[in-house]
Amino acid sequence: MKEKLLGKNPEELKAVAQDCGLPSFVGRQLADWIYVHRVRSFSDMTNISRIGRETLAQRYDLGVADPLSAMTSSDGTRKYLFAAPGEGAAVEAVIIPDDERRTLCVSSQAGCKMGCRFCMTGRQGFHGSLDAAGILNQFLSVEESAGLTNAVFMGMGEPLDNYDAVMRAIEALTAPWGFAWSPKRITLSTIGVLPTLRRFLNESRCHLAVSLHNPFPEERLSMMPVEKAYPVRDVLALIRRYDFTGQRRVSFEYTMFAGFNDDKRHADALIRLLKGLECRVNLIRFHQIPDFPYESSSESVMEAFRDRLNHNGVLCTIRSSRGEDILAACGLLAGRHLQH
Ligand code: SF4
Repeated sequence: MKEKLLGKNPEELKAVAQDCGLPSFVGRQLADWIYVHRVRSFSDMTNISRIGRETLAQRYDLGVADPLSAMTSSDGTRKYLFAAPGEGAAVEAVIIPDDERRTLCVSSQAGCKMGCRFCMTGRQGFHGSLDAAGILNQFLSVEESAGLTNAVFMGMGEPLDNYDAVMRAIEALTAPWGFAWSPKRITLSTIGVLPTLRRFLNESRCHLAVSLHNPFPEERLSMMPVEKAYPVRDVLALIRRYDFTGQRRVSFEYTMFAGFNDDKRHADALIRLLKGLECRVNLIRFHQIPDFPYESSSESVMEAFRDRLNHNGVLCTIRSSRGEDILAACGLLAGRHLQH
């Protein structure tokens, strides 16, 4: 298989140019064509010699690929399916329009190893990690590409279990030679993989979202096996060492399950856990999946939970649910065309 250029930085593209017998400044031109002009073929790189373009095309793959399919929800949310590594595997990317915003919910792995019980992606097992090109291609190959304003690494997979590819993609998104996005436009969502979380906090300035879902360790463990290796208390102890009072934000995702994590005891424990931390809690409606014992909490229970947190100094909102009719909502992404 040919090496992909999408995801490479200008230094690496310089080496590519040299490998093809081209002057090293062509590396910079390649970066411009790929990230600024966003061409989809070597033949469009008109300031590179014809012979140079042909050599590049013989030896390398640009790394862009059209989606396999797309679906639009009644609320305007749009879901794309992209081919992924692994036999017949696919990943989904979701565009969430909201007033002026066009947010891309991006996938980092086909399936997931983490096994959260409430998640359709987790249930399908793990098929492979995307490389940086596979991640960036979701930005480049959706119809809304030119108008994207934000990105959330909240699609399929645990981004901190695919750290190098995710960080390489983030570098291309934020570097002046790349998309030149502010890191404030990007949020990475994790269940709290501690070793790479520490690196992410040190090496990036993007926002962080942590999937918390339950303040009690043994209850959280019953839904999220990660609690055993990386307890959420340790995750919070790490987060507290960083500054979230300025530009960078941390939020906590809390999916509401009726009778499991939605009473006063849970709200009070959550308040104690997050006390003094500048953060936001997002309450998420649970979208029913087959063979799962809990339903979503009712609207009134969610509102009471939200109010209790807000009255006790923990900023809390109920996240509006989008794209449920096309299975694009939180926890429902599963590359469904593959489920014969
Ligand atoms: Fe993986 Fe996230 Fe699903 Fe957990 S919730 S199984 S980490 S995709």
